[in-house]
Amino acid sequence: MFPVEKIRADFPILQRQVNGKPLVYFDNAATSQTPTIVIDAIVDYYSNYNANIHRGVHSLSQEATDKYEEARIKIQQHFNAEKAYEIIFTAGTTHGINMVASGFSELLKNGDEIIVSALEHHSNIVPWQMLCEKTGAILKVIPMLQNGTLAMKAFDQLLSENTKLVFCNHVSNALGTINPIKEIIEKAHSVGAAVLIDGAQATPHIKPNMQELDVDFYVASAHKICGPTGVGILYGKEKWLEKLPPYQGGGEMIETVTFEKTTYAGLPHKFEAGTPNICGGIAFGVALDYMNTIGFDKIANYENQLLQYGTEKLQEIEGLTIYGTSNKTAVISFNIKEIHPYDIGVILDKLGVAVRTGHHCAQPIMNFYKIPGTVRASFAFYNTKEEIDIFIAALKKAIMMLS
Ligand SMILES: *Cc1c(COP(=O)(O)O)cnc(C)c1O
Repeated sequence: MFPVEKIRADFPILQRQVNGKPLVYFDNAATSQTPTIVIDAIVDYYSNYNANIHRGVHSLSQEATDKYEEARIKIQQHFNAEKAYEIIFTAGTTHGINMVASGFSELLKNGDEIIVSALEHHSNIVPWQMLCEKTGAILKVIPMLQNGTLAMKAFDQLLSENTKLVFCNHVSNALGTINPIKEIIEKAHSVGAAVLIDGAQATPHIKPNMQELDVDFYVASAHKICGPTGVGILYGKEKWLEKLPPYQGGGEMIETVTFEKTTYAGLPHKFEAGTPNICGGIAFGVALDYMNTIGFDKIANYENQLLQYGTEKLQEIEGLTIYGTSNKTAVISFNIKEIHPYDIGVILDKLGVAVRTGHHCAQPIMNFYKIPGTVRASFAFYNTKEEIDIFIAALKKAIMMLS
């Protein structure tokens, strides 16, 4: 038995009420909630050893530096990166993607091709479009199929010796589809292209293995994995991080500075200009420890039960369409007849149920289905079947009021 009641006690926010009703939080794909142990780590940092890192000889600075670098090693181990300095702290997934896209602007030339999947979050589309404008590279798209998966045969046809870079999310935030990234990486490598995987939506459910995947870049955000906002990681293979130019200039990323010439620091500091989110990095490490103590296999298994239960209950509702029906994480994106998703979201909120409505930063997917958006319920390991029952009852009420 998955100890969900014990786990729920770790999350203070789950005790609160919203609009006079107990909170049912089903917006985990947008951000996850924070356990006490992570909140305590944040309070501990600011109460006891807040100091700038790497530069100070004084004790507090060294303590903070040690804790921050310990967090990097925890993250390295979690992602099974070969080297700790292949983990670059970022402000989050979006930041990590922009770092790579900006670096590639110096490596691409006119006519080079880069490939994106149709299932991407805007943050894994727009930086590449900007890159194409700057370099004259051409953006190609792996199309999607009706069931919310990628058309892998079409991907084969897009690949050529002109392909320099392929980027795709590990899991789609809008639909929950788990993409065949191992296959995508192998195929891209067979034509000599590098691969960036957006792991923002996968990392709350799956423990990804950098060396086994043989991926070139992988990005994630702490706030979707029970950590704080404003911190994340870019994993990059050493050879790629060496090749890419620094993203920002400033303190911390230099070796020597004169007005004639500056030499850059080695990895990871080359990509970590300025004072980072020290507390956030440390708290991210604590969040991963917390999740690993529960175990990602157990988390995925339990969430899968919630997904099945929720799907069955929703399918009983007349006129309801679920988008994305193949191999996925605990995300259910749906619409009901002609009712606008926003209206459903507003009524659910009045009844204490938090879901997301709209295009989920993935307008191309909505265009594919010819819909303005969906209602998205996304479950985490601290959710329960009882909460799904409350959600279903609230949804039926909303449908009655709106039709
Ligand atoms: C949330 C999300 C992002 C953006 O993450 P930020 O933390 O906002 O930078 C990108 N891609 C996917 C798949 C996501 O789920």
